[in-house]
Amino acid sequence: MQVATGISILHGIALGKIRIFKHPEYIIDEKLVDDPIPELGRFEQARCKVQEQQQVLYDRAVAAAGEESAAIFQFHADMLDDDDLLYACKTIMVEQHHTAEYAAKQGFENVAQMFKEMEDPYFQARSADVIDVGNAVIEALLGLDTDSLQGTEPSILVAEDLAPSETVKLDKSLLLGMITREGSSNSHTAILARSMNLPTLIQCKDISDDWDGKFAILDGYNSCVYIDPTQDLIDSLTRKHNEDLKKEALLQELKGKTNTTIDGKTIKVYANIGGPSDIGSVQANDAEGVGLFRSEFVYLNSKEDPSEEMQFQAYKRVLETLAPKLVVIRTCDIGADKTIDYMNLDKETNPALGFRAIRICLTRKDFFKRQLRALLRASVYGNLAIMFPMIISLREVREAKEILAECRRELANEGQKVADNIQIGIMVETPAAVLCADELAEEVDFFSLGTNDLTQYTCAIDRQNAKLEPFSDTHHPAVLREIKMTIDAGHRHGCWVGICGELGADLSLTETFLRMGVDELSVNAKSVLPLRKAIRSIDLSKPASTAGKAE
Ligand code: PEP
Ligand code: MG
Repeated sequence: MQVATGISILHGIALGKIRIFKHPEYIIDEKLVDDPIPELGRFEQARCKVQEQQQVLYDRAVAAAGEESAAIFQFHADMLDDDDLLYACKTIMVEQHHTAEYAAKQGFENVAQMFKEMEDPYFQARSADVIDVGNAVIEALLGLDTDSLQGTEPSILVAEDLAPSETVKLDKSLLLGMITREGSSNSHTAILARSMNLPTLIQCKDISDDWDGKFAILDGYNSCVYIDPTQDLIDSLTRKHNEDLKKEALLQELKGKTNTTIDGKTIKVYANIGGPSDIGSVQANDAEGVGLFRSEFVYLNSKEDPSEEMQFQAYKRVLETLAPKLVVIRTCDIGADKTIDYMNLDKETNPALGFRAIRICLTRKDFFKRQLRALLRASVYGNLAIMFPMIISLREVREAKEILAECRRELANEGQKVADNIQIGIMVETPAAVLCADELAEEVDFFSLGTNDLTQYTCAIDRQNAKLEPFSDTHHPAVLREIKMTIDAGHRHGCWVGICGELGADLSLTETFLRMGVDELSVNAKSVLPLRKAIRSIDLSKPASTAGKAE
């Protein structure tokens, strides 16, 4: 058995035969022509044909993955109207007497190089789109057909790289998963793979032509692919795969339904995410929004302190794709178990009680401002709420809000647009925040209970320490009372109150939380539909039926 690793774009498992997907190979003739006029005519015909194809691809992508994902094909079609690009190609034909194919190759490559040299990662990633359109023009000129490359049997497609147009052209009924040697999570191919809910590995450097036809398991949870897996592994991953399929069936049944109890109380069920790569699961599991975007994963995924621009792109992508759903982005909660080399944080004796989250942000103001500016700039692309973690005092909330206001003023002076209606909230995950909830509620629009940390700080149980497992009680009455106190305090001051810690997905407490008056539960995406099912089976007009009462 061989194992190769990569970067997983979407969690999930695919089992099946590998199919090596090769781009059609062709050699472009460098011969010169006497008369450029016929070449100009051929080029124009190919250009129109590809523009029509892009329209077809756009329609297909809208149906498969929604308008946001399809927008790239509109961009491709518009590119074929770009005067500078067309002028560059025509000059090669008219002045250098090259063929239309050669002119298309050179013209598009030159423009792609320009994109590649730009600083903005978004524009750098567009370089692949330019090459993609150029190839489509060349294939149209050469009369090549790429439709037959997928074969006839469902398979895991393995390629050096896949262009967006190739990805959307793929027959989904023959596609179990995708693996590429290249690719960036910023590319539209990755965006499409997420929207298509397809297990996908990129940057899998060990792919090999020898894999063709072999049986494999793409394990998106562990970011690897097993070639010729052992029977034991096949059995255990097949079981996991079947569990996934059962959840999918559940999903179909509950999709589009409300989170309403039998007696008519409706609450919000949102998803927790760690970054843009989780967008697909929010959509696939029909979450109404994102209740916790742990933005520190954007930092953890980066080799260096992410720039404002890089963060802006990540937040924008999530907000734009999920609009008009609410997306609660928690500011960087680094520290404790989440450490990053480039932050140069000192080793501490009690890191969970140490220099972390808002404490770092309020101390390293420039670091904090970079994130807040990125968030504010991204706010115009969707429905953003900003949430501050690890709050213990009013002073911290006021200071964080003051820095946010400073960023807003700076951006206004720079002429940058920022949404007016950004909700501001805090994580309630320390006993201090619970006990000061009345004062804190005056400062914010919402509370989100972080029950993971709230349990650790209330019970003095280090959540990282496996030895304390026998002493740990996730339903500890003190924590449940704190949840109730927080909900009541929030409501007294007009705040909505949610739970984004793991306890929110604990179905044995759903009824208890509803009886306490919780407004929102934010859980991992796969728990959204089971939770919806639980909510729909509860009747609050009847006497309480579960354990875990706060009183
Ligand atoms: C929590 O503490 O409950 C929470 C949601 O935040 P994290 O798990 O990221 O600390
Ligand atoms: Mg926490």
